[in-house]
Amino acid sequence: MRDGINKIQDIKGLEHECSVLYIEDNPANLRLVTQLLSHLANLRMLSALEPVEGLELAREHEPDLILLDINLPGMDGYAVLKHLRENEKTRETPVIAISANAMPRDIEKGMKAGFDEYITKPIDVAGLLKTVAQRLSEVKK
Ligand code: MN
Repeated sequence: MRDGINKIQDIKGLEHECSVLYIEDNPANLRLVTQLLSHLANLRMLSALEPVEGLELAREHEPDLILLDINLPGMDGYAVLKHLRENEKTRETPVIAISANAMPRDIEKGMKAGFDEYITKPIDVAGLLKTVAQRLSEVKK
């Protein structure tokens, strides 16, 4: 964990103001990732504990990046991704799956479904922070 924190401090803040939406029904994971991403300057974090609220936030705020759990109540991450891709406002938004389904076939399924990346739980915090910072650095403002 200490090693992870040291690496996190090497990652610079973002050049532009960016926003990230995380849709996740597990409050502990939500807290972990929210706290983790608070290390990035200029980042606004939005979150939803359930998919319908997450889709509403996505349409309303048009975040630069969406982190999406797969196992969600009512609608799974694949259905959420489909809704995001069908909406004009979120069609192009990068979406990263964060899932406990970590078998190679799960990852393959995720990539085939159109996730931009597929990150498995337990979350490698330094790796996730790097991935998010990298994706957001590609955002043109
Ligand atoms: Mn879940």
